[in-house]
Amino acid sequence: MEDTGRPRDFIRDIVATDIESGRCKVVKTRFPPEPNGYLHIGHAKSICLNFGIAKEFGGTCNLRFDDTNPSKEDMEYVESIKRDVRWLGFDWEGREFHAADYFERLYQFAVELIKKGRAYVCDLSAEEVSATRGSLTEAGRNSPFRERSVEENLDLFARMRAGEFPDGSRTLRARIDMSSPNINMRDPVMYRIMREHHYRSGDAWCIYPTYDYAHCISDSMEGITHSICTLEFEIHRPLYDWFLEQLGIYRSRQFEFARLNLSWTVMSKRKLLSLVKDGHVSGWDDPRMPTISGMRRRGYPAEAIRNFCAQIGVTKYDGITDFALLEHCVRDVLNAVAPRFMAVLDPLKLTIVNYPEDRRETLDAVNNPENPQAGSRQVPFGRTLFIERDDFCENPPKKYFRLFPGNEVRLRYAYIVKCVDFAKDPATGRISEVFCEYLPETRGGNAPEGRKIKGTIHWVAASSCVECEARLYERLFTKEDPEEGGDFIANINPASLEVRKAFAEPAVLSLKPDDKIQFERTGYFSVDQDSTPRRPVFNRTVTLKDSWSRLVAKG
Ligand code: ATP
Ligand code: MG
Repeated sequence: MEDTGRPRDFIRDIVATDIESGRCKVVKTRFPPEPNGYLHIGHAKSICLNFGIAKEFGGTCNLRFDDTNPSKEDMEYVESIKRDVRWLGFDWEGREFHAADYFERLYQFAVELIKKGRAYVCDLSAEEVSATRGSLTEAGRNSPFRERSVEENLDLFARMRAGEFPDGSRTLRARIDMSSPNINMRDPVMYRIMREHHYRSGDAWCIYPTYDYAHCISDSMEGITHSICTLEFEIHRPLYDWFLEQLGIYRSRQFEFARLNLSWTVMSKRKLLSLVKDGHVSGWDDPRMPTISGMRRRGYPAEAIRNFCAQIGVTKYDGITDFALLEHCVRDVLNAVAPRFMAVLDPLKLTIVNYPEDRRETLDAVNNPENPQAGSRQVPFGRTLFIERDDFCENPPKKYFRLFPGNEVRLRYAYIVKCVDFAKDPATGRISEVFCEYLPETRGGNAPEGRKIKGTIHWVAASSCVECEARLYERLFTKEDPEEGGDFIANINPASLEVRKAFAEPAVLSLKPDDKIQFERTGYFSVDQDSTPRRPVFNRTVTLKDSWSRLVAKG
């Protein structure tokens, strides 16, 4: 195939071949979330794939809510899913569909299958159905209700719909083959009786279609050409094909790819829901969550998530992707775009003894060394500063180049200072203040002739700095595989959030919620929605250290 500059993978190759051969004229894909939770980074992979293919091949991608299971679905989830897909940068151009809107047609198709002798009402309980299904090595047994007449089936199915029978007392089953080697083909259930209020169809229905029955027909009705799903549906594909073939309607085709698994993370919506419901996190958008909304609040740019999805690619082989790759993609985008500021996360007072008490000056600081167009800003300086507590050391180890008695460091953008003394809190023995002398001729931070200054530290001026809240995050789980030991709740990291009182330069007051910045030396941060003009709140998006690029560089 010629090089088109498009991403390449086995699914895109199939699509390209279908277009070239004329088998398909316009590509139509869909992203089919069930609105029973918020979207997570795994869904982002599916979104990028489905919307990406549609875009690259000049086709369309529908957003379809796969809402056939009323007990767990909710309007809140529908809204969050739309917000997240849009934020990721994709547009369904008004093609929002709901499986629930197909309930009447799905019902009519089921009637058609009954008339063809391809479906029957079965009175076995759920337990009896699964007990007679057989196993991988053993054929299933025919239901005693399998030979019901078409008339009886039509009558019973209509009465199921009319609400004449209790929940779970009957099902509609496809009449296929109880001895099929594929268990999914052993007369699978198409409808169950369930008196549940549906967030969209209300109480109009007391029977609900199963995923396997509804999904293929929804695809067909929308003219989906390539129905792309994760590998666990591969063994459902014969059933997908069977329904469409029996009904003689448009034959959408299903293709399967490996789902995304990430280290240090759980991804099933059931587990994410329990983290939220049981209060282990503050909500679906808690910045420690692997949800799209959590990552957005944490400060991950949508572009970084899209780049990550492009880098991991699309294959048929299950694996676990290192979380460090996602963080690498986040740093990569933020490094280019995030303006730099100075803030001190663990403040220690520093006094410049030879700097006049009443003197104020401002110094020129570069906004983004990666982007000359970002320009510079003025940072106020003064006699009393705050520095990071760990940038001073009373008895420094070897190769410690920051402040210690007698040593000189550069205050970023400001002056070279020499540590002349320090004070301790007599009660705690903790360092309470550092005293320095500055070299007035080093304004801007230039080292004096012939002297090498190895350490550069950041600072803020005590008289003008802004008190902020810095939320520092660690991994939500203590284990790379949170399931280790069988209980992911037991592996929750009790220290995954640390809230600090920090001091930042006054320029941060102009930031708005969602803005993404770098605090020099301590990481990338985003302004949280809890921020107020008087007290900014920052989420640390990611630290500056990139373990992934070091791994890659080492080869
Ligand atoms: P979960 O297992 O997290 O509850 P799900 O598959 O039940 O997910 P759906 O809402 O049905 O959630 O998923 C919508 C689409 O996203 C499906 O096509 C599904 O295959 C895909 N998807 C879900 N999880 C992943 C993942 N980890 N990687 C890639 N695609 C995924
Ligand atoms: Mg699903």
